[in-house]
Amino acid sequence: MRLKEYTQDNVRGKKILVRADLNVPLKDGAVADETRITASLPNIIKLHEYGAFVSVISHLGRPKGEPKQELRMEPVAKALERLLIGQNCGINAVTYVPGCIGTAVEEAVTAQSADNVLLLENSRFNPGETENEPEFARHLSQPFDVFVNDAFGTAHRAHASTVGVSEHLPSFAGPLMLREVEALSRITGDPAKPFVVVLGGKKVSDKLPLLQNLCGRADRVLVGGAMVFSLARALGLSVGKSLVEERQIDSCRDIIADYNESATKLLLPEDITVTDDIESPQNIANRPLSEIGDDEMGVDIGEVTRDAFALQLSDAATIFWNGPMGVFERKPFDAGTVAVAEAIAANAEAYSVVGGGESVEAVNKLGFAGSISHISTGGGASLEFVGGLELPGLKALAI
Ligand code: ADP
Ligand code: MG
Repeated sequence: MRLKEYTQDNVRGKKILVRADLNVPLKDGAVADETRITASLPNIIKLHEYGAFVSVISHLGRPKGEPKQELRMEPVAKALERLLIGQNCGINAVTYVPGCIGTAVEEAVTAQSADNVLLLENSRFNPGETENEPEFARHLSQPFDVFVNDAFGTAHRAHASTVGVSEHLPSFAGPLMLREVEALSRITGDPAKPFVVVLGGKKVSDKLPLLQNLCGRADRVLVGGAMVFSLARALGLSVGKSLVEERQIDSCRDIIADYNESATKLLLPEDITVTDDIESPQNIANRPLSEIGDDEMGVDIGEVTRDAFALQLSDAATIFWNGPMGVFERKPFDAGTVAVAEAIAANAEAYSVVGGGESVEAVNKLGFAGSISHISTGGGASLEFVGGLELPGLKALAI
């Protein structure tokens, strides 16, 4: 898929509506992690350098279609202003606009000077946003000449600020969006072989489309996380108190059958770290996958599996990783996730991509980010992309 890219001619002197992903974590009314704001800067600066007037819109949290005091964009505007001023790019102020449609926005856009960026209110304060209501999309687009979408993280959602506005304005992809699509296309297109995938995380239901799509395309799929236990149940094993999605067991059985008939190897862990209680573990042990006790729950891939997975990753030419191998938030149940991160980092020849909320958090927290070729900013969006689904936010920007 090729996306429309803007040039200076498309944007010079124009009023631009930028959709960014500024859905940052907040703590005590302030921004707790600025990663996403920082990621949005290159697009804003480029547009400013091209002589455009930039207004930014994003969602923040889940206000469910009505204004929520604690989810206003004001603290984000402060952080964005500080970061932009720090770039010495000629932008001197970010004005928070307490609305995203109507006269407040129109007046702010009319009064906007070249060194000023506007940040509109949380798009999800309006029910028309997630419903992609045509009237709301028309109002959103009204004060603007051009739409630039740089929010890969919401590209899998057909919302007014990601898809609806593109029906009213000439629309282009921003640099972050382009970089994501280029990187993930190396996974979905014609990946260099051996193509090895590591899948983990919590809910097998989230990952089934991905598992299906990789069957026949990947050379090996290494499975960890809680997904293992629904697959193990499908194989007739008992898994004690481990997390299982009972309703997915039939689908898991079908998937295992598909893999058995394909050239793709599906590798389940040989052994598992088990405990009696995640919060206050009294007993921790290493067990073969087939020998989990009735009172035990699996919380990580086992010691033998860590080495086995590392070996499977050592000769890979392309690697895609989604989902932690265990409850990595709690030591020592991070050992499997650390082992996989180390193995990916150690294979310097491979093109490696990590996607997914917690997987990316784990890689950053463990300090391996510098050794990964691409870290996707889109959790659900990167999963859907690699799962072969069509992303409405991208379709709206396609050439
Ligand atoms: P991502 O956001 O990277 O796609 P998920 O949201 O699917 O990943 O899953 C991440 C969560 O899965 C983590 O919070 C982790 O604690 C949990 N998890 C991993 N393994 C297990 C397990 N064996 N039992 C319960 N939870 C697990
Ligand atoms: Mg997650």
